[in-house]
Amino acid sequence: MFSHLSHLECSRTGTSYDADVVQGLSEIGAPLLARYDLDRVRAEVAREEIATRPADLWRYHEILPVRDPAHVTTLGEGMTPLLPLPAYGGSIGVPRLLMKDEGLIPTGTFKARGAAVGVSRARELGVKAVAMPTNGNAGAAWSVYAARAGLGSLVVMPADAPEITRRECVAAGAELYLVDGLINHAGALVKAALEERSGYQEVSTLKEPYRIEGKKTMGYEIAEQLGWRVPDVILYPAGGGVGIIGIHKAMLEMQELGWIGETVPRLVAVQATGCPPIVDAFHAGLDESTLREGTHTLAFGINVPKALGDFLVLRATRETGGTAVAVSDEAILGELHALAAAEGTWICPEGAACLAATRELRESGWIAEHEQVVVLNTGAGLKYPETIDIDVPVLPRDGRVPPT
Ligand SMILES: *Cc1c(COP(=O)(O)O)cnc(C)c1O
Repeated sequence: MFSHLSHLECSRTGTSYDADVVQGLSEIGAPLLARYDLDRVRAEVAREEIATRPADLWRYHEILPVRDPAHVTTLGEGMTPLLPLPAYGGSIGVPRLLMKDEGLIPTGTFKARGAAVGVSRARELGVKAVAMPTNGNAGAAWSVYAARAGLGSLVVMPADAPEITRRECVAAGAELYLVDGLINHAGALVKAALEERSGYQEVSTLKEPYRIEGKKTMGYEIAEQLGWRVPDVILYPAGGGVGIIGIHKAMLEMQELGWIGETVPRLVAVQATGCPPIVDAFHAGLDESTLREGTHTLAFGINVPKALGDFLVLRATRETGGTAVAVSDEAILGELHALAAAEGTWICPEGAACLAATRELRESGWIAEHEQVVVLNTGAGLKYPETIDIDVPVLPRDGRVPPT
């Protein structure tokens, strides 16, 4: 069978829901998690067989929600490289540092994973159009995949979200609006709009169950790429937190499948000091975060003042013995430049935040020198051209390039 999806489950109460109709949140307003018949997956698929499949995230189709392969909407997403960073890692005292580089995925950010799986399943369930507030990258990815699937899309984003993401939405034919505010203001506008429209599914972060399923494949890939072993630590830039919730879910599923052993990586949620609600809640010992006003960071993807799934992010970090760290924009830019100079790769500020956190956790001793550490670079630096200043001489036509 292509998918062994069995049902959906409320992430707070465990109550079951039918997976074969369009669902949003549970009755009490909590995200729904997809559950699979893992006993049957274990019996039918050996992890060795996965290696023989095409190099995209659909290689894990038994534990993805799309039932009919004809509904798969793909642009080749998944199986991004897990790059060693020997020069940079050595310089910060973490010689076994690896970077999962999501900059190489369609649309240039890992939002493509959630969009590919979410749009495919929406199409399978008969949805005609999707609607969402976004900090930019998710709106771009969902409009692109919606176009490919023949669905409409309605997107609202803050006016100062990265400009390239607007252009991506427009190119894909999305109905796009800008708002003078943050992502929560965009969310309120989408909610009100949908009260007056039919045929739309609201697909904002965690309000539909399948974006997590797309993003969890990062966890499967990290284990597969390491020969079905897991690293000691994984650092993730948490906005809505879908990626870290997904990676945690992947680790637990793989344990149940017998694909990995008993230890799971310590998961670290990284935020910016200009928007640290989850980090604050972690250190205050709380199970949920508090809405922050006036948040700001150049790492736009993690400017989320209050995440619906904050309790799941906190659970993922605590249950795995992980932690939560906030880093400054100055530190983010410093690591972005340092990595590009040392390894040649230009990453997004959200990815650079994970490097700043790695440096800090190594300095404090929380990460030991011998440990294998994976940072998620969630997007391409090319989407954030303003992170690099250009100050180079312009030569007259009859000028000379100076001798070395
Ligand atoms: C959306 C985004 C994030 C945060 O992802 P969540 O799943 O919301 O935590 C991190 N980095 C980039 C580049 C993003 O676009």
